[in-house]
Amino acid sequence: MRFLVHTYGCQMNVRDSEAVAALLVAAGHEEVASEDAADLVLINSCTVRQKAEEKAIGKAGNLLAAGKVVGLMGCAVKRLGADVFTRLPKLHFAVGPRRFGLIPKIVADARYPTLELGDDEVPEGLDAHPDTRRAGTFARVQSYVTVLLGCDNRCSYCIVPDVRGHEYSRPAKEVIEEVRCLAARGVKEVCLLGQSVLRYGIRNKAWETAGGEPFPRLLRALQEIDGLERIRFTSAHPKGCTDELLAAYRDCPKVCRHLHLPVQSGSDRILAEMGRHYTRAEYLDAVRQLRAFDPEFAVTTDVIVGYPGETEADFEATRSLMEEAGFDNAFVFKYSPRPGTRSAALPDDVPTAEKERRNQVLLADQEIRGQRRNDALVGTVREVMVEGPSKRNKARLSGRDSGNRIVVWDAPDGARPEIGSTVRVRIDAAHPQILVGTRVA
Ligand code: SAH
Ligand code: SF4
Repeated sequence: MRFLVHTYGCQMNVRDSEAVAALLVAAGHEEVASEDAADLVLINSCTVRQKAEEKAIGKAGNLLAAGKVVGLMGCAVKRLGADVFTRLPKLHFAVGPRRFGLIPKIVADARYPTLELGDDEVPEGLDAHPDTRRAGTFARVQSYVTVLLGCDNRCSYCIVPDVRGHEYSRPAKEVIEEVRCLAARGVKEVCLLGQSVLRYGIRNKAWETAGGEPFPRLLRALQEIDGLERIRFTSAHPKGCTDELLAAYRDCPKVCRHLHLPVQSGSDRILAEMGRHYTRAEYLDAVRQLRAFDPEFAVTTDVIVGYPGETEADFEATRSLMEEAGFDNAFVFKYSPRPGTRSAALPDDVPTAEKERRNQVLLADQEIRGQRRNDALVGTVREVMVEGPSKRNKARLSGRDSGNRIVVWDAPDGARPEIGSTVRVRIDAAHPQILVGTRVA
């Protein structure tokens, strides 16, 4: 069959979609670029906020109305369970996050309708499946590698543990082998994925032998892989910012100087209610340590505005924390109650208009801060991995520095280095989310 996968949500969904596409290609199906050309459309859904879930469901409804065979996969399926067929009566099949390996068989048997929710405890081990790394998916220079499935943190507002199940760390041996195989096929940069990735190897053993904290140890092992140039990972929790992690940063030049460290709130009262297990001071201390190690270290974050009971004073605490932390970038989310989570039992009492106002205030602050952080880099020379033509201006190339900052520079057709190579760019001008420069020798 000719198929297409639409992906909503996070990087882990992007990787899951890539893996399922690879499995379908291995089973003899053809991936196509447009809905019109597809007989089968898979929708990989997100449910972290209500809006995200509605987008995926809406899309599935439209495609079913257009007569396509539609399969829904991912987090929204797990949350809705059998109700997914009430919302989408004509849906052909629905598969939870840890069961997408079953899709080729479901499609082969045309066994419709089918619902596969899966059991959280049984790890799928799909990333290890050689078919999920088919030739086509190696064409790029960057690759996601899922290392930790699920989450056991149980933050009060978050549906992720309900839909992605308990933490399961893939064996280090398997991860290292996968990255080695990617590097041998031209991948220069990997991004290791986990909801709280620094908890790698804590709930279940990832290493066969003893030898230090499991995640920093993984970084050290990946540092040794020939051909691999950059190692990123996301998301992090301040509890994981240990001395051993800092030591791994210091000793491993391939590990990028950027950490996505979601803070969620700057108010100790709200942080406690969220069950985040750190205080404002502890969070800021983690940021301080990273910046003490390297003043240009980039720290980015996620923030929720309008959590139940969030007062003006709580909100101002978030504002001031963001200023103290000097974030390089921030994603702001308006609180959305998710059924079954602890906070869903609390009144969602910050009015929508007020959530929107707080959202806008934080974004405006971040624009100014991003500009200031980037202004400080004007005149410096960045090591930039070339990603391709800039989206806005095709006469320019675009890439990222170690801090994940987007850098663009003029590159006439005759002066185009290979995608995936690293070049030096001197920064001439700064914007809140982008650096503009000139290539230097
Ligand atoms: N595992 C990651 C976050 C995954 S969800 C981590 O903990 O670092 C991505 C972001 O969505 C979260 O950081 C949070 O800011 C936001 N989010 C999660 N649940 C939400 C909810 N119910 N309402 C609004 N935003 C939410
Ligand atoms: Fe959700 Fe918290 Fe787990 Fe992140 S750490 S996925 S916010 S429960």
